[in-house]
Amino acid sequence: MTAMISPATVPAGAVGRGPIIQRERGERQVFCGLTGIVWLHRKIQDAFFLVVGSRTCAHLIQSAAGVMIFAEPRFGTAIIDERDLAGLADVDEELDRTVDGLLRRRPDIRLLFLVGSCPSEVIKLDLGRAAARLSHRLAPSVRVLHYSGSGIETTFTEGEDACLAALVALLPPEQPQAERSLLVVGALPEVVEDQFCRLFADLGIGPVRFLPPRRSGQLPPAGPNTSFLLAQPFLDATARALKARGARYLAGPFPFGAEGTTAWLRAAADHWNIAPDRFREVTLAGESRASHAVQRHRERLAGKRVFFFPDSQLEIPLARFLSRELGVDLIEVGTTYLHQQWLAAEIALLPDDVVLWEGQHLGNQLDRCRAARPDLVVCGLGLANPLEADGLTTKWAIELVFTPIHGYDQAADLAELFARPLDRKSRLEV
Ligand code: SF4
Repeated sequence: MTAMISPATVPAGAVGRGPIIQRERGERQVFCGLTGIVWLHRKIQDAFFLVVGSRTCAHLIQSAAGVMIFAEPRFGTAIIDERDLAGLADVDEELDRTVDGLLRRRPDIRLLFLVGSCPSEVIKLDLGRAAARLSHRLAPSVRVLHYSGSGIETTFTEGEDACLAALVALLPPEQPQAERSLLVVGALPEVVEDQFCRLFADLGIGPVRFLPPRRSGQLPPAGPNTSFLLAQPFLDATARALKARGARYLAGPFPFGAEGTTAWLRAAADHWNIAPDRFREVTLAGESRASHAVQRHRERLAGKRVFFFPDSQLEIPLARFLSRELGVDLIEVGTTYLHQQWLAAEIALLPDDVVLWEGQHLGNQLDRCRAARPDLVVCGLGLANPLEADGLTTKWAIELVFTPIHGYDQAADLAELFARPLDRKSRLEV
């Protein structure tokens, strides 16, 4: 289900140098943080995500992941039923029984996430205490963490952020005198990780590790000799947790498109004092290949007017890519949360006249969007059909999270994701 929350206040906007930043609050229409399980359960191969929630939560995950139950997916739901809600059952006992049954059936599980939901938060179930109790009992073979995926005041990419922030607590400390290392933070498809590993190796940067790792036994160490790059702009809590461990953030744009990927790699290269000539030598082929491939879509997208509804929190880096590499005209760029600390380099690359909106007031945004009549609207699934019915062309924002879009070799695919709805529309008009 999507979270619909309606505090009806509209604070005044704020104006800074560069793009205009406005803020508004009101009715929201976004998926909840449970959605992150759809891609996270494929990433950490010996982890299991146990949602503690309602049948609605179970239905959301099951249908969003599109996995048949007999395929033994690495997620499930412990259903909070009427007896739990009425206080007739000992929820802790029931949870322990569910976890024991799960581990008997799935002895390969090494890392168990108890994932909170709206119902578990409303009845104030203390999953932190439950995770500590279970961890103590099941150590060392299974470690148990918890995080919230609820839709109460959150958006769907915050599920990954909360999961990774919880994982930071499990990262081992660095060895004394540890060599410096690079940590790439954010769930990436393995093919993309491999491409980045090759580029870092050619640059002479390493060791390079990833959070989340492919297996829970490969948790990377973190400490003052760790520098980290964010692969996703929505990892605010994770980045803050890493900084609290003494790790150093390497600031820069995100690796979307040719320009963004080069700038992202450069942030690490500068920290490793890689000579500019060597940097160009390593990155030139990939950057040229990406630029060339992206150009194929420029013809279709240049001059098109694009409107972003707040949804995935990828909006600002994607708007920068569309504007600078594809010549798109940005009408409005909405994002659920604007983490200026991690997005400063991206905002600096946006046109000065673009308007950024943080937060959501659905009614106002729909009014502005309909009045602007953009060529393409990037929005959540729930808004796409009504807007298409109004004659607007839409792109589902969530598709940008499920599709590999990072790095040089995916830049053309990323451009195509925006070009395709326009192509489809022009074909329908013929
Ligand atoms: S966590 Fe909340 S918003 Fe998400 S599916 Fe469950 S009840 Fe719905």
